[in-house]
Amino acid sequence: MKTIVIIQARTGSTRLPNKVLLDLEGKTVIQRVYERTCSIKAIDEIIIATTTLHQDDTLAELCKRIGISVYRGSEDDVLDRYYQVSKLYRADAIVRITSDCPLIDPREVEKVIDKFKKGRFDYVSNTHPPMLPDGLDASIGTFTAYEKSWQEAKLKSEREHVTQYIRKHPEIFKISSVTYKVDYSHHRWTIDKQEDYEFISRIYEKLGEKNLYGYLKDVLAILEENPDLKRLNSRYERDEGLRKSIREDKKVTLNKDFSKSSFLLERAKKSIPAAASTYSKSYRYFCEGAAPAFLEKGLGSRVWDIDGNEYIDYVLALGPVIVGYNDERVNKAIIEQMNKGISFSLATEMEIILAEKLIEIIPCAEMVKFVKNGSDATTAAIRLARAFTKKDIILCCGYHGWHDWYIGTTQNNLGVPQCVKKLTIPFLYNDIKKLETLFSDHKNKVAAVIMEPITLELPTPGYLEKVKEITHKNGALLIFDEVVTGFRLSLAGGQGYFGVVPDMAAFGKAMGNGMAISALVGRGDILTLIEKGAFVSTTFGGETLAIAAALKTIEILENESPFEKFTSLGTILLKEMKRIVSNLDLKNHVELIGPPYHFAIKFKDAGELTTFDLLSVFQQEAIGQGVLMFPAHNFTLAHTEEDIRTTLEAYTRAFKLVKHAIEINSVDGILKGGKFSPIFIRGRSR
Ligand code: PMP
Repeated sequence: MKTIVIIQARTGSTRLPNKVLLDLEGKTVIQRVYERTCSIKAIDEIIIATTTLHQDDTLAELCKRIGISVYRGSEDDVLDRYYQVSKLYRADAIVRITSDCPLIDPREVEKVIDKFKKGRFDYVSNTHPPMLPDGLDASIGTFTAYEKSWQEAKLKSEREHVTQYIRKHPEIFKISSVTYKVDYSHHRWTIDKQEDYEFISRIYEKLGEKNLYGYLKDVLAILEENPDLKRLNSRYERDEGLRKSIREDKKVTLNKDFSKSSFLLERAKKSIPAAASTYSKSYRYFCEGAAPAFLEKGLGSRVWDIDGNEYIDYVLALGPVIVGYNDERVNKAIIEQMNKGISFSLATEMEIILAEKLIEIIPCAEMVKFVKNGSDATTAAIRLARAFTKKDIILCCGYHGWHDWYIGTTQNNLGVPQCVKKLTIPFLYNDIKKLETLFSDHKNKVAAVIMEPITLELPTPGYLEKVKEITHKNGALLIFDEVVTGFRLSLAGGQGYFGVVPDMAAFGKAMGNGMAISALVGRGDILTLIEKGAFVSTTFGGETLAIAAALKTIEILENESPFEKFTSLGTILLKEMKRIVSNLDLKNHVELIGPPYHFAIKFKDAGELTTFDLLSVFQQEAIGQGVLMFPAHNFTLAHTEEDIRTTLEAYTRAFKLVKHAIEINSVDGILKGGKFSPIFIRGRSR
């Protein structure tokens, strides 16, 4: 049996150009991979398979100069490269190794070859499931298996990721994998990003003389001694390239399968009003039938729906997910606390630590009361303001939750008593005159002004200062609703960013990276009323998992400048979206509003089409392309520039479809499911 090793290599990596030519202790990455491959026993030839592109000339010349056989073939059809080389060399079995893995361990590759030969398999790998560090991947397949997949594989991912077709067809091929007792798959020892290169360089430095024979156990020993090294590149996920390629497949076949979602939706409609516990997570907000109705899991910036479709998520549970989904650090904090208990019969020290932390970071916070939702915190603030000022009228601006005192001002006010409705009066953002009029219409009756410090509109210069001045002049209290702005605009929300300090503030959403926790913070002389008859208390106020999550989340946010990151990602996304809108001549129909860290897309009615028709077209296409979106966009620390690039590809298609709908003045034949039909329209007050 003639066994050859094919090492695929190219210099045109988009993520890290020329990576195979980078230096590792005096030799290029490709040389290091080649040297290690040479010490694999029982192989007959090693061939580097690169592309015919001009940019790969240097690589090909380098290989020739040092006596390595090179084959040059298709750029994208890597499977074809493998097939052509195998035919040329009359190989019976082909070992596949990639050139970005300079820590490839010859002994581990031999295990794969051994198993293949002993079991007379068509294909054996060590990645099914992956147990070794990413970067020690190897597989071997028969020429017949390669030939069959070369003939049959159609999808882009199957042509680019050579063995995909074989792996997907266990009914055709006899497949096996080398398995391990210990799972090392969370290690990342491959070079795909700059940080990976830094990591591998450091490992090579430490391997020193051993570098040719620095095997799995040697590298593990180095990491044991230098645990910090792992952090260099640990935020990247395995198989990113494969996942990207699978997303590209979907562009051709599109129409994701939402069958499980649709089935569950019918069930949910019978037991849960609007089929979801939160309005904005209901099917009414996500093109029923042409979008997922249920999500199953998340990781970083991504979520997976119940049918297994993957998305980059900008909804982020309506704002709470700020570090990223399923973040290891936050998870660990929660699990550690869970092992001690969840809710207790007395308060815990953690409550004090978190309260002190909020007092340290939030200017208006002298005391803190923990509750569970944004609505709890805003409602507590209103009660305290009334108790403190002995007045009843509330002036509000923005959205403040589902309780009577606020929701009575909106169109969704069924069930709110008339006498309660009269007590809260909305005013428009940036309209100082109206606020002054309201104060003079209700002289000496206003307990508080509650407002979001910033909405999708930026404050005009001096606006917030003026609001504070008028409010205090009239003997009322100023409350900032920082449920959205908290931890995102700055750790301390709008008051931290604009330097206008209110009397009280409500924080929630992003505080615990998705755990249910919120806080009323404010002046001590006001909050002490909580123990003097102003009732604010709830069973789960001090529930410890949420507090553990909040402590860890805030610690991470303090170290990682979230606002700068979100602004930078949002700025790139917005700038490019504006360019697309302008190129497609859609300026009259699309508005991109709000600050980059939290901007929104707004469609304007066009001909027969309403804003929601156009939003539905856009959203359906974005979702079809793997982007879960809502008009308002949020970010996490886990979102990357590559996510933004993928999003822009999806949004380009989505905007093109919107343009098409406008041109034909119809969504017939375009919308494949339901329309975005909100139950509650934020900001539309009576
Ligand atoms: N205030 C603002 C500004 C909000 O956006 C929200 C929720 N969207 C709330 C208060 C209410 O928070 P919750 O839904 O957690 O009760």
